[in-house]
Amino acid sequence: MLDQTSQWYKLQYPECFVNEEERMLQKTLADFTDKEIMPVRDKIDDDVTHEKIINPILKKLQVDLGCQKNAIPKDYGGNQLSIVGCALKQEQIARGDYGISMHSAVTEWVWVPTLLAHLAPFSPAAKAWAKAVLDEFAPRFTSNEFHAGCFNMSETESACDIENSLNEGRTIKVTAKLEGNEWVINGNKFWASNAGIADLNCVVCNMDPKLGIDAFTLVYVPEPWPGVSHGKFEVKCGMQADRNTSTYFDNVRVPKEWGLQGPEAWALFKNTLAAPMPLNAAHAVGILQGAFDVLLEYTGERVAGGKPIRKHLSSATILGEMASVITVGRSAFLELAHQYDHMEIYGGWDTESMMAKGHAVHVFITTKLPELILKGMELMGCYGYIRENHYEKYYRDAAVAKLVLAGVQYGYFATCRQFYDLDYSSFGPGKLKKPS
Ligand SMILES: Cc1cc2nc3c(=O)[nH]c(=O)nc-3n(C[C@H](O)[C@H](O)[C@H](O)COP(=O)(O)OP(=O)(O)OC[C@H]3O[C@@H](n4cnc5c(N)ncnc54)[C@H](O)[C@@H]3O)c2cc1C
Repeated sequence: MLDQTSQWYKLQYPECFVNEEERMLQKTLADFTDKEIMPVRDKIDDDVTHEKIINPILKKLQVDLGCQKNAIPKDYGGNQLSIVGCALKQEQIARGDYGISMHSAVTEWVWVPTLLAHLAPFSPAAKAWAKAVLDEFAPRFTSNEFHAGCFNMSETESACDIENSLNEGRTIKVTAKLEGNEWVINGNKFWASNAGIADLNCVVCNMDPKLGIDAFTLVYVPEPWPGVSHGKFEVKCGMQADRNTSTYFDNVRVPKEWGLQGPEAWALFKNTLAAPMPLNAAHAVGILQGAFDVLLEYTGERVAGGKPIRKHLSSATILGEMASVITVGRSAFLELAHQYDHMEIYGGWDTESMMAKGHAVHVFITTKLPELILKGMELMGCYGYIRENHYEKYYRDAAVAKLVLAGVQYGYFATCRQFYDLDYSSFGPGKLKKPS
């Protein structure tokens, strides 16, 4: 149970970063996680059809608690949460299950391009696009029906290369073509969270890869929709509550108003790629907190070598190290989220400096996470490796946190760009030829 009155809590979530409204949201989600997710967390990844455990939890979280409208503007009936609010939410849910948390985060992600175009100073064309998309689709997500979103970007041939902004969209194979008053989309996507269950995709396309940014296009495609189909759901090491599969676009036609092309679409894409840095860092802190709580309790009860395991100094160094990384990781994601919420002071999310800071925070916590959770498993002996003791799920969840968002290597490259002109583009001598 999250005790917001303790001194430790106040030190972990300082007033300079977290306001009263965000604190109330955090408490609601902490209590939700304790009540709805914790008691079944060891069974979530075995709910193959999602019908028994996962969908009932998602419905309560997304509809009853209103999380599916978190990234919809207030004037469209949404919650328009701050980034600090979103990060606190992800931390609490990931403490119970990373897959549930990822599902919820990605439904917010699909709205980020339109939310930014609606709120920030973009051109009338970008604003008209955001209006068309919000007018058409926001009412679904603000209703009492369960809906999911998908930011559909990755492709089978290197997803990192698409996220790599130095490539300027030239490796994107999914094409969008304007024919009269319609976009026609062709090609295959792979990996996106919520693919196959989403009602709304934001599809990352290029009209002509050799033109790079000028032909870069974002198009919203609802589902079900003629020409859109999917592959099988991937069976992953963990986080089964997050669905991943391919999406096939076969001459998919949508109205022209649902797509935006060119440098502004590219700017919105770069901001959308940056948006999850504080949120996935918060996920990682939540996963580590969940594992730490299990370990603290177990090692207080289990006696080995004549005393409770946690009283041995060798164990205390592992528990202390986990608490130390949680503390630093939490400070870092809160500070970053606060800076995201104050672009007027700290600059845009897509600036080189903000990207460097975002990736630096993200790689720090996501690389520490699996290594520490595995170390902690030693303290539980064989009991840590068994589902019903609740520890091994954090080990499985932890592995993937550092693979998403182009992975940690890409994160280090982006961090270095703050200091020198590191070239990690996919094109050049010994690499790919630019499309011509
Ligand atoms: C659970 C999960 C959820 C996901 N959710 C989404 C989603 O919602 N939407 C979506 O579109 N995608 C999603 N993805 C895809 C994810 O973003 C990609 O998997 C990720 O970007 C890595 O791409 P890849 O696996 O194709 O790795 P690759 O592109 O094959 O890269 C592999 C490795 O190559 C190295 N590398 C990459 N770039 C360079 C470089 N420039 N120079 C040198 N080395 C390099 C790195 O070590 C990298 O980790 C998800 C993936 C998972 C597993």
